[in-house]
Amino acid sequence: MSLNRTGHRVALNVFLVVTLAHWAEHLVQAYQIWVLGWARPQARGVLGQFYPWLVKSEWMHYGYAAVMLAGLFLLRPAFTGRARTWWTVALAIQFWHHIEHFLLLWQAQTGHNFFGKPVPTSLLQVLYPRVELHLFYNSIVFIPMIIGMYLHLRPNRRELEDAPCDCVAVESRPAVAVA
Ligand SMILES: [Zn+2]
Repeated sequence: MSLNRTGHRVALNVFLVVTLAHWAEHLVQAYQIWVLGWARPQARGVLGQFYPWLVKSEWMHYGYAAVMLAGLFLLRPAFTGRARTWWTVALAIQFWHHIEHFLLLWQAQTGHNFFGKPVPTSLLQVLYPRVELHLFYNSIVFIPMIIGMYLHLRPNRRELEDAPCDCVAVESRPAVAVA
């Protein structure tokens, strides 16, 4: 089994579930702040209510961003045509998001926080607060990723011919063989 051949579909499904669960945590956190009116330090999503260190640890955030980047990179080869374009957009944005987490981790390790702030601070926090900014980052990675997955599972003839995986069932391939 290879990640971009027979294993692509399973790997994509696992990646989707992990990504959705993480994104849902960001949405819950936004709901806690905007709708329920909780104080920001108390708004830690669902898992963070039980394990506050999950949210507080810059190592966790960085680790997740790195796993996400690795997944987008490793699963990319089997994407073809339009799906590849959208997937690459998600990869590029996640690359920047991952840099932001690297800088946050660096600040947490050295104790030198950007902009003279009391806590590690993202570069684009000059524009938006952290919760909103990282919800935004996760959303603009998730959207092109989902479009890429959707197109990957509904390829045109050329895209299907080029795809090394069997995400699209073999039964639907005779049309390609005839062509
Ligand atoms: Zn595939």
